[in-house]
Amino acid sequence: MENLQEILSSIDMSQHTMDHITIACMDGRFFGPVVHYLLDRGLIGHTDVFFAAGSQQNFLSDEFKAFALKQIELSRKLHDMKTVTLVAHWDCGAYGGNKALGGGDEERAKYADDLEAAKQVIAAKFPDLEFELVLAKPEGNKVDFQKIA
Ligand SMILES: [Zn+2]
Repeated sequence: MENLQEILSSIDMSQHTMDHITIACMDGRFFGPVVHYLLDRGLIGHTDVFFAAGSQQNFLSDEFKAFALKQIELSRKLHDMKTVTLVAHWDCGAYGGNKALGGGDEERAKYADDLEAAKQVIAAKFPDLEFELVLAKPEGNKVDFQKIA
């Protein structure tokens, strides 16, 4: 892994393009792991970020859908964004967490279904975007990023 400080100081503040947008939950337990995931993939300095409670759930909500889609629209329009990483995470409080979703296969299926549904909502408005769907799940004291699609 490259040094974060070096990468941050090499970001050209006069540039106005970001190829990517990362959409994740605001849950601070997962912030560091998401940053490391992006760092490993060389995306720091190349990705916009939209961190909001429930991540993918915002695109499926009557209350937040327009706001969430606006973030995509602005990233595309202002930064020429082309690819999207949608990150769901285990035990998400916006869903009621493990208590509500069971902490097993059903919980995994719910996040996978909602990631796919959110992708469809975004793709319906922006059909030329490419997507990566990921579930962030703690395994011991590390967080595993599992590809859903
Ligand atoms: Zn969450």
